Amino acid sequence: MTEAPVWIVCRQCGVRLYRKRFEQELQVCRECGHHARLDAFQRIDQLLDQGSAGEMDFGTPAGDPLGFTDRMAYPDRLAAARAATGLCDAAVSVRGTIEGRPVILLVMDFAFLGGSLGASVGDLVVGAADAARQERIPLIVVTASGGARMQEGVLALMQMARTSQALAELDEAGVLTITIVTDPTFGGVAASFATQTDVIIAEPGARMGFAGKRVIEQTIGKRLPADFQTASSLMEHGLIDDVVPRVRLRTVLSRLLSLTDPPSGGDVLLPVTPPDRLGEPETSDPWQMVRRARELERPTTLDYIHHMYDGFKELHGDRVSGDCPAMIAGFGHLAGRPVGIIGQQKGHDAAELARRNFGMASPAGYRKAARLMALAEKLRIPIITLIDTPGAYPGVEAEANGQMNAIAASLRLMSGLRVPLIAVLTGEGGSGGALALALADRVLALEHAVYSVISPEGCASILWRSQDAAPTAARALKVTPSDLLRLGIVDDMVPEPPGGAQRDHARAAEILRARLTAALDELTPWDSDALVRGRRARFARFGAQPVKKEVSL
Ligand SMILES: [Zn+2]
Repeated sequence: MTEAPVWIVCRQCGVRLYRKRFEQELQVCRECGHHARLDAFQRIDQLLDQGSAGEMDFGTPAGDPLGFTDRMAYPDRLAAARAATGLCDAAVSVRGTIEGRPVILLVMDFAFLGGSLGASVGDLVVGAADAARQERIPLIVVTASGGARMQEGVLALMQMARTSQALAELDEAGVLTITIVTDPTFGGVAASFATQTDVIIAEPGARMGFAGKRVIEQTIGKRLPADFQTASSLMEHGLIDDVVPRVRLRTVLSRLLSLTDPPSGGDVLLPVTPPDRLGEPETSDPWQMVRRARELERPTTLDYIHHMYDGFKELHGDRVSGDCPAMIAGFGHLAGRPVGIIGQQKGHDAAELARRNFGMASPAGYRKAARLMALAEKLRIPIITLIDTPGAYPGVEAEANGQMNAIAASLRLMSGLRVPLIAVLTGEGGSGGALALALADRVLALEHAVYSVISPEGCASILWRSQDAAPTAARALKVTPSDLLRLGIVDDMVPEPPGGAQRDHARAAEILRARLTAALDELTPWDSDALVRGRRARFARFGAQPVKKEVSL
């Protein structure tokens, strides 16, 4: 037995660190932020509430189904790994709590034969998933793996199939699943349960991919950038939800786990006093309304979320191609209940507008929105959408990436989504890019919002052959909330504070929150079949016959 050294050296920056403090700081280098590799026991210790860990399941010792020998016989390799790590194989599962909420935690350990996936690890993943499903407890997997275990041959490959089945059953059962990607996560683990979960979080610097960087470099004969397959790059490509430093993991996990809390009955909502003026908007000229709806001072989606939501957690990426900054998607609590929220994000200044692409979402944005809707459906959580966009982004890349398909897919998804959907036009409701979030059970419009098939300028230049006719086009298109109410397009107009929402964001959000809470009360609890029937009836009305106002649920 030797004493642990007092000092250790950071593997990334080489600085000397005082070991005790390094451990207190969760083995993250205070100089460069490098997240050192943890063993399974350290990881469990860091993630679970102190004293909450139950008995650990180390799994069944792997056999040697192929009688495999490389430079060493497989059973000897296993024996050496067991002696070195104190584990039975490359994973452990354990029950415990995170900030008081029960979880089943499956932790992989790279020190055991490179965290490779064989039958024993497969057993542990399937066992943890089955327990999570039967007891309806969220499953968290912490991944670290080089891929499938070669010594078990094609039987190792089958672990990808059986773990995928177990995760699919968790989806069917509506049980929340979360991955924490740690460095490195590759091959068969990355291409199965690691990326099949509802929310994928990576530690800073963690690398994840299917093929390893060196293999790719050899194949294509090119050097790849230093950040290839790292957490920040995965994020940029829309493949993970977030990069979360170790010190914040428990907080983020706790927020996500709170989505499965039973409704708390909510904070005590003070009755919202009606604004001084109700009824007809103060500006009734449609063109003025259009201009007002576009004012930069109006609250954005993030402003409304900030004022209305508790514990908001934004999720990122479409898991296919990117993360669209013009589309916000996430979950939080609205008046004590978990509610998903999706909306286009503009900005208050030139810099944010440019960064958010003026609220014009790409296909990746609509796919992110659809992913969140599907997740809300799985977790039986209602969704609110906030619509404020000049339109879906008209660009070459957006077309090539299937803007039309992304919008169409969103419409089809919403038409059958088995949870309540409430859409709010908060500013500019620009055409198909707006409707892609508005096929909802209730459609509300803020007092100074507009909704149109085309921008008045666009309509004017096509039909009047002059952009100068935009004010005339705005009047002809019937875009204002009172028009929309009359046409049955919106169900309710949400008043704004005197002078408009831009004058008082907090007050505007307070009024909206009260309306949304009332709408949610109307729609919950729900029978999914009736909900979908009612939503379809709502939009089926818009035929050539005059619109009937009645909608029955
Ligand atoms: Zn360092």
